[in-house]
Amino acid sequence: MKILVSGAGIAGLACAHGLGARGHAVTVVEHAPRLRLAGTPVDIRGDALAAADRMGLLGRIRERRLRMSELSRFVDADGAPVARVPVARTGDSPDDVELLRGDLVRLLADALPDTAAVRFDDSVEALADDGDGVDARFRSGGSDRYDLVVGADGQHSQVRGLVFGPESGYLRHLGVYIALADLPGAAPSDEVNLVHNVPGMMAGVFRYGDRTVAVLQFRSGPLDYDHRDLEAQKRILAEAFAGQRSWRIPELVEAALADPALFFDSAGQIRMPGWHRGRVVLVGDAGYAPAFLSGRGASLALTGAQFLAEELERCGGDPTAAFERYTDRQRPYVKRAQDRVHASRDRLVPATWADIAARNDALRAAETAAR
Ligand SMILES: Cc1cc2nc3c(=O)[nH]c(=O)nc-3n(C[C@H](O)[C@H](O)[C@H](O)COP(=O)(O)OP(=O)(O)OC[C@H]3O[C@@H](n4cnc5c(N)ncnc54)[C@H](O)[C@@H]3O)c2cc1C
Repeated sequence: MKILVSGAGIAGLACAHGLGARGHAVTVVEHAPRLRLAGTPVDIRGDALAAADRMGLLGRIRERRLRMSELSRFVDADGAPVARVPVARTGDSPDDVELLRGDLVRLLADALPDTAAVRFDDSVEALADDGDGVDARFRSGGSDRYDLVVGADGQHSQVRGLVFGPESGYLRHLGVYIALADLPGAAPSDEVNLVHNVPGMMAGVFRYGDRTVAVLQFRSGPLDYDHRDLEAQKRILAEAFAGQRSWRIPELVEAALADPALFFDSAGQIRMPGWHRGRVVLVGDAGYAPAFLSGRGASLALTGAQFLAEELERCGGDPTAAFERYTDRQRPYVKRAQDRVHASRDRLVPATWADIAARNDALRAAETAAR
C-alpha cells in the first residue's frame, strides 16, 4: 500500500519502520525543517522493549542507555538537599531503558528501510477520504493519493484536527505546563539533578550525557495561546515565574527565555473514543498522549506502531479490521499510562508549602525504611 505518515517523531518513524519493512511505500511528512531531537530522556518500558527488539533496534537502544545514579535531589532555597528519589523507585523493572529522546529519534530515522522516506518542511493541509483512498493536499502546494494515512503528529495533531475535529474535544489538561531548555556548558555533578519547589512551581537542572537541561514547571489552568508561537510561550513562562527569586529560579528562567529551541507545552492527555475513521488512523500522542508526567509516551508510540503494522499485515487489504485489532491491543497500555499521572504531578509540583513538606517527609521515610 501507499501510506502517508504525518510527523517524524517517535511514533511516526516507528510506523514508517514497521510499515516500510513490510513492503508498503511510506512517505513521512514532518513540518519542522529537520528531525526534532530536543527533550529530556524517555523511558522504554515493558512490551515496548519487545517492539524495539522486533525492529532490530534494542541492542543499539541499550548502547545509548543513560545510567543515572539518582534521579534527583530536592533542595531548599539555599540549595541544601531535603529529600531524594532513588532511581529504582521510578521505573517498572530493571530492564527498562532510559535514553535521550533525541537519540531514539535519530536511531529510528537511521534505521528506516528504503521503502520509507521523510520529507521535511511540509505538512498536510487537507484530507479527503472517498472510501477507496485518501487525497492529501500539502502546505508545499503538492497533492497525492494514498491508501492509508497515519496521524503521528503529536499532542496537537493536525491530522486529528482535520479528520476527528478540534483538540478541545479530546484534550484533558492536567493543570501543569512544562518548559525544557538547554543550558550552555557542562555543569559540575554537584550542580545537577537538583529540583527546587515553591508552591505550584518546580525548577530543576539535570545532566544527561554531555547535555545540561533546565526544566521549569508550573501549575495553571488551561491557557489560550498558539502552540506554534514561541514568543507567546516565552511570555507565558516569564509571567508565570515573575517575582520568584528563590534558589536558581531567576537564572534558569533567563536561560530558558534565551534558548531559541525552548520546548514548551502543557501536560495534557488526549483521550478519544476511537483512533480511526475510514482510512485514517492515529498513533502515539496524536491519539493517546499520556502527558509528560507519565514517562510512557515513547513506549506507547513504539507498541502502537508495532501493533498497527502487524495487524495491517494480518488483515490483508481490510484497514478497518486492522485498525480495530490495533485498537484492541493498544487500549490496555494507553489506559495504564493515562491513569497514573496525577501522583507524579503532585510529587514533582506540589501545590502548597504543606504539600512540599509532606512530599519530603514521605521520601525521607521511604529512604530510611529501604536501608
Ligand atoms: C521536541 C520535543 C521534545 C519532547 N520532549 C519530551 C520530553 O522531554 N519528555 C517526554 O516525556 N516527552 C517529550 N516529548 C513528547 C514525546 O516525544 C512523546 O510523548 C512520545 O515520544 C510520543 O511521540 P509522538 O511521535 O507521538 O509525538 P512527538 O514526539 O510529539 O512527535 C510528533 C512529531 O510530529 C511533528 N509534527 C507536529 N505537527 C505536525 C504537522 N502538522 N505536520 C507534520 N509534522 C508535524 C512534530 O514536529 C514531531 O516531530 C517531546 C516531543 C517533542 C516534539
